[in-house]
Amino acid sequence: MTDIKPLAINGNILDRPIIISGPCSAETEEQVLTTAKGLARAGVKIYRAGIWKPRTKPGGFEGVGVPGLAWLNKVREETGMKVSTEVANRGHVEAALEYDLDLLWIGARTSANPFAMQEIADVLRDSGRDIPVLVKNPVNPDLELWIGALERLYNAGITRLGVIHRGFSTYGPQLYRNHPQWRIPLELRRRYPDLPIICDPSHIGGKRELIASLSQQALDMGFDGLIIESHCDPDCAWSDRSQQVTPEVLGVILDNLIFRDSPVPTTENLVHLRRQIDRLDNELIEILARRMNISREIGTYKRDHNMPVVQPARYGDIMSSRVLAAKGLGMSEEFMRTVLAAIHEESVRIQVELNNK
Ligand code: PEP
Ligand code: MN
Repeated sequence: MTDIKPLAINGNILDRPIIISGPCSAETEEQVLTTAKGLARAGVKIYRAGIWKPRTKPGGFEGVGVPGLAWLNKVREETGMKVSTEVANRGHVEAALEYDLDLLWIGARTSANPFAMQEIADVLRDSGRDIPVLVKNPVNPDLELWIGALERLYNAGITRLGVIHRGFSTYGPQLYRNHPQWRIPLELRRRYPDLPIICDPSHIGGKRELIASLSQQALDMGFDGLIIESHCDPDCAWSDRSQQVTPEVLGVILDNLIFRDSPVPTTENLVHLRRQIDRLDNELIEILARRMNISREIGTYKRDHNMPVVQPARYGDIMSSRVLAAKGLGMSEEFMRTVLAAIHEESVRIQVELNNK
């Protein structure tokens, strides 16, 4: 993917930050238009609404289907906003193109499905249209799967591509509905610096209270825009109720965000701080190498004494004592756990390899 073009609608490049907002689902013509008018007043230029809703279980609201596309056309006529929806198969794309929507996005369940992605890519290629397409990350944290979905579109000639980071599912109670795992979109940015990344704080947080801080975090990390769910009456929404805000609240959230767009000046002070980071990183690498060497020695001992590689009690002790120490030094528990888990995984790999020699 060497020639990704900027996101543009009818030849007009979208200004950063790209802000997209609208309801999770189009429900009624009135809800779609009332929400849109509020958003237009808040300065939003691109409207979103789900017309076909992928539901985990049957029986949920599955979207209004094709009639909703006419409502989106009305939004465009009455507010001047560009309009977008989610597509998941050939029929959706054909209908969305027939109604001349301005932008499409692929949902997290679809981008995880290579057959659906190929089908969508084929219809778009055959249509010959230059429509921008945003690809949400797959539900599972698999960067290659995400890139694979993008490649299918790119290989079909769709070059106005972008991605939406909407977090990844995990099991069990947690702060976020979908864990952000920021290092995954950041790695994507490292590999494809020209690919615009838009953050979806509504689906990451799952709660409206988290939208503002997640949005600011994303902008601080250099994301190109935000897609935020809004609804004229969020508490009565037919889907994703707790993560939608009114257009008025959305306006307040946007007004309070800080867009740090100026290039970072490389002042004397910054150069000095970066040198310190470089030095510390080198020390970290040396310390890790020493730790791995000791792990190797322990591995030899375990092998010679016929002991299992993984000692759960010992691992538990290491985790709890280190996490406590890290907390005392002002680091987050989650960060320390992630680091320790990665170190432990590598130690185990080294020791298992020894056993197989
Ligand atoms: C949506 O945007 O409403 C949606 C269904 O999101 P996701 O594909 O991220 O779950
Ligand atoms: Mn939703």
